[in-house]
Amino acid sequence: MSQYKMWIGGNWVDAESGKTYPVFNPATEAEIAQVPLGGLAEVDKAVAAARKAYPVWSKKSQVERSQIVLKLAALMRADAKEVGRIDTLEHGTPAGLAGMIAGDLPEWLEWNAYNARALMGNTIPQCPNELIYLQREPVGVVALITPWNLPLLMIVEKLAPALSVGNTIIIKPASINSLTALKLAELADKAGFPSGTVNVITGPGGIIGEALATHPGVDMVAFTGSSETGKRIMALASQTVKRLQLELGGKNPVIVLGDADIDAAVGAMLGKQMFNCGQICAAPGRFYIHEKVYDEFLQKFTAGMKKVVVGDPNDTKTQMGPLVSADHRNRVEGYIKSAIDDGAKVILGGKRPTAPPLDKGYYFMPAIITGVTQKMKVAREEIFGPVAVFMEPFNSDDKVIELANDNIYGLAAYVWTQDKARGMRFANEIQAGTVQIGSTPARDQDVPWGGYKQSGIGKEHSMYGLYEYTNLKRIQVDLTANR
Ligand code: NDP
Repeated sequence: MSQYKMWIGGNWVDAESGKTYPVFNPATEAEIAQVPLGGLAEVDKAVAAARKAYPVWSKKSQVERSQIVLKLAALMRADAKEVGRIDTLEHGTPAGLAGMIAGDLPEWLEWNAYNARALMGNTIPQCPNELIYLQREPVGVVALITPWNLPLLMIVEKLAPALSVGNTIIIKPASINSLTALKLAELADKAGFPSGTVNVITGPGGIIGEALATHPGVDMVAFTGSSETGKRIMALASQTVKRLQLELGGKNPVIVLGDADIDAAVGAMLGKQMFNCGQICAAPGRFYIHEKVYDEFLQKFTAGMKKVVVGDPNDTKTQMGPLVSADHRNRVEGYIKSAIDDGAKVILGGKRPTAPPLDKGYYFMPAIITGVTQKMKVAREEIFGPVAVFMEPFNSDDKVIELANDNIYGLAAYVWTQDKARGMRFANEIQAGTVQIGSTPARDQDVPWGGYKQSGIGKEHSMYGLYEYTNLKRIQVDLTANR
């Protein structure tokens, strides 16, 4: 078992309290590490270090900054195997997927490092005797508060733009799996960021996250996590009017119209539902299937789900590993129970496997719930697990648009039809940050991601993601006289 330290101000440190807490392997329930239990003292130290580093880092030329971010990308690529191994160990990500993620993330860093060099301002030709131009500047010290569901990816998607444009950062990873964040700090150290540019504090969100959201030395909070925590962070950050970028929950409708290509829809949506055990904000949250194709879709989806291989994440045949923790599995089971209590039917899975070796570890068999109506808890709340929720079949486009929009979230929606004009009506009327008509895979960094309604504020990825980490300044010069 390993003993870890935090990374603050260019030093590996223990918590001032001397306290640590355990990290568990979700596939075996074994304790794998002890990490420092950071607290308010560490928040103050990290903010002071990031503030001190800010003028150093932000005043470097963009070329120099981008080169250091590119160095981090190269180091991560060289160490991708180890990064993937830690992801599997602390999160239960199947090894193949963990390797793929670790292999892809350097490109996310590169995308931001290169595009930060192309961040140009504008001149506004309002008056011939005046020079008015707009300049993008870093925001300052940014706290990155991230969830457990794809521990490294969730950090890199914020870190890459934040650092590339000149901010200094304090990372507060999810406490149940902070080891990839600490590995990232080790790579950042080697990449040559000035001391204090990158800091990592491990420990509870209720203390460290709240202190960062409140601290007057923090200029921006970039947060991914639940809507409840996002609201709390908004309230705390309002005291000092911090910039916020919030990626919150989703309850994403899948709408399959009567003319859809059912095999294509089943394949794509099954993949999305099972990806990372359904522990992903983009997962389907509610299936609305037209009555004409309901039976066919459900039968094919069920057949596909039965074939999903649940098992040891280190086994190359495994498609779905364990859920992240005992608490989270209890939470998902609570939703299964609520569906039954509300009168819905669990037609597949929804239980823990009992046969060895899967009787140890936080395993859970993927589930399908049918007969769900709009008011049931499983139709309204994010389950964040491998549970497909089938709403009653529909027969009217108007009605299904109304039902899809009847939710506090507005992250993504998936519409299946072969009639693109009909699909465009859904695209225009659904209140969500992303609407996909059919399966349209996209390179992640090239396209923006972010929610409407209670799914968040601001965007990640793309030039919109880079802008989030900048302030836009107007500079106006009177050219007529030396006044
Ligand atoms: P939480 O909101 O519980 O936690 C997220 C982070 O916030 C963790 O680092 C946590 O620390 C910290 N935190 C907890 N309480 C506070 C607080 N009071 N003040 C400040 N920080 C706090 O989310 P989960 O980790 O459970 O992640 C799952 C959620 O994330 C889901 O709702 C999911 O939809 C959302 N998500 C959204 C995405 C998007 O792109 N929209 C992408 C991925 C996930 P600690 O770990 O110590 O509790």
